[in-house]
Amino acid sequence: MRKKVIAGNWKMNKVLSEAGEFMDSVVPKAPKGNDVEAIVCAPFPFLSKLVEQAKGSEVKVAAQNMHFEDSGAFTGEVSPVMLKDLGVTHVVLGHSERRELFAETNELVNKKTKAAFAHDLTPIVCVGETLDQREANETMNIVGEQVKQAIAGLTNEQVAETIIAYEPVWAIGTGKTATSEQANEVCTEIRKVVAEVTSADVAEKVIIQYGGSVKPANVDELLAQSDIDGALVGGASLDPESFLQLVEAGTK
Ligand code: PGA
Repeated sequence: MRKKVIAGNWKMNKVLSEAGEFMDSVVPKAPKGNDVEAIVCAPFPFLSKLVEQAKGSEVKVAAQNMHFEDSGAFTGEVSPVMLKDLGVTHVVLGHSERRELFAETNELVNKKTKAAFAHDLTPIVCVGETLDQREANETMNIVGEQVKQAIAGLTNEQVAETIIAYEPVWAIGTGKTATSEQANEVCTEIRKVVAEVTSADVAEKVIIQYGGSVKPANVDELLAQSDIDGALVGGASLDPESFLQLVEAGTK
């Protein structure tokens, strides 16, 4: 039985005091146990404080991006070494906004995924098709290729620990959720792709999240699907009560 993983992706929102208030509300109430993992994916300037606030709880803190090099002349970038040193446990990689607005390629996402494992950070690798690609029946080619390239060169053990977030680009921040069936269909295909390049055993273990306009009102139906093991949530993760409801849904 795979656990459920609910990750809140704040994107470029909140200021430090608001981030602190969010954790004050969420940490004491977050469910404990092995059924569900709650992850807060916050902007870099908040990470240190949030890790401090999460101490003693099971809430995990993630970055939303990172560079693949350990250190060096990369003005404005943040390295996996820095994240690990802060106590961050996860990192979101290849979010569609990074791919679209910051020209991140599958190759770059692969370098970052390898760098995450080299520093004992769990990558949450985002994949997903645009509306044009879906309408042209290219969803599985695009998503399959994104998955294959992201995990290329990883050991089977590392692939088993990778979290894959299927986020159809047309459903992000638009209020248009993929239907549970549409979402599950692609997540099932992703698991098949993972099985092809690794093994059935690894594919059984890998956590596959759905993301794109997930909210308390639709999360139960999505999580009830056979191949959806959690959610990567943007807008509905900003409010502590809403985030807690989403995490609670993972315990059902
Ligand atoms: P959304 O964002 O929940 O606001 O659609 C999801 C994401 O981009 O991770």
